[in-house]
Amino acid sequence: VVARMRRFGPTVFAEMSALAARTGAVNLGQGFPDADGPASLLEDAVAAIRSGRNQYPPGTGVPALLEAVAEHQHRFYGLTLDPGTEVLVTAGATEAIAASLLALCGPGDEVVVLEPAYDSYAAVIALSGAVQRSVPLVPGPDGSTLDAQDLRAAFSARTRVVLLNTPHNPTGTVLSPAQVAAVAALAVEHDAVVLTDEVYEHLVFDEHRHVPVATLPGMAERTLTVSSAGKTFSVTGWKVGWVSGPAPLVAAVRMVKQFLTYVNAGPFQPAVAGALALPDDFYLGLAADLQRRRDLLVEGLLSAGFGVSVPAGTYFVVADPRPLGHDDGTALCRELPGLAGVVGVPVSAFCEPGSPAAAAVRPLVRFTFCKSDAVLEEACRRLQALR
Ligand code: PMP
Ligand code: GLN
Repeated sequence: VVARMRRFGPTVFAEMSALAARTGAVNLGQGFPDADGPASLLEDAVAAIRSGRNQYPPGTGVPALLEAVAEHQHRFYGLTLDPGTEVLVTAGATEAIAASLLALCGPGDEVVVLEPAYDSYAAVIALSGAVQRSVPLVPGPDGSTLDAQDLRAAFSARTRVVLLNTPHNPTGTVLSPAQVAAVAALAVEHDAVVLTDEVYEHLVFDEHRHVPVATLPGMAERTLTVSSAGKTFSVTGWKVGWVSGPAPLVAAVRMVKQFLTYVNAGPFQPAVAGALALPDDFYLGLAADLQRRRDLLVEGLLSAGFGVSVPAGTYFVVADPRPLGHDDGTALCRELPGLAGVVGVPVSAFCEPGSPAAAAVRPLVRFTFCKSDAVLEEACRRLQALR
């Protein structure tokens, strides 16, 4: 492996899912739903395969999906996109993020990242040769803290990209309009592109509201917005994602994507196009159902003795085991199958080793609630053993 990639091991998700499989523990580690998405979506994919849509789709994506993404951005956020030049279909959000960073960043460039961060970000920034500049986003009982001074300090004359993620994995933070505006202002000041990972855009609870940075005045022209069918439609294995933004930036991403995967997911693309047009009831039902399961898991964690940071969005909750006498989340995650028959992932795995954010989240464990009530109830019952 090349030197710049040597510090990356197997992903924490693979390690913890293997641990769950080996020990028979309830797996609340890796975030994947245990029920499939809408029946119409699944049927449409089967129909697309049966009707012979099994060869390379067009380079930017099938027209129906490009149009559906543009229509979705208009319907939910009032954004206007040209499906012909301002949308690109990718192999999941992961490829959209990788191709965007590889298109925009190289040695000498800096990427501002909220830390903890989804694990692919640091690896792709390293691949590109750029340097990550982290801003701690630390979850706590009253929501997450994003310090304005830390944010400003992460920017420099070398800042090329600000990589945002809201709703945020792993902390469950939904950035407030003021926080999004603060990031946007700094991006403008430093003439940086905002790359925003919004895969959890529809998984938002209570009174919280997702504010896409592209909707702020003057931001659409410098923002690449990424999302994916995986979370919204509970088909994480399909790896259908997309990126949208101004034509020159999308063209740059496409330049890289064409040599990474060329195209992807031919028969799944028309199916996802149909799902994006589902009525509001679907989207509202998705959030309401997850909110109920969030509450179930939060209650269970509290009654097992954890401190809990109640998430405003995503399908993850961060638990603090210090009241139970554990102050190292990584060690606890390795022991948890033996102690309680449950698997979670340490929040520090989303941090650069030795970083201020890593120190701040060291005790914390992330559990997912995108599982059936029966699975969540069983996990909560088992976690009582920690008391
Ligand atoms: N970004 C974040 C914040 C995620 O949590 C995930 C899913 N694990 C991804 C990107 C990857 O999405 P996809 O599966 O569509 O590549
Ligand atoms: N996004 C999911 C998570 O954070 C799974 C990611 C993965 O397995 N790469 O748990």
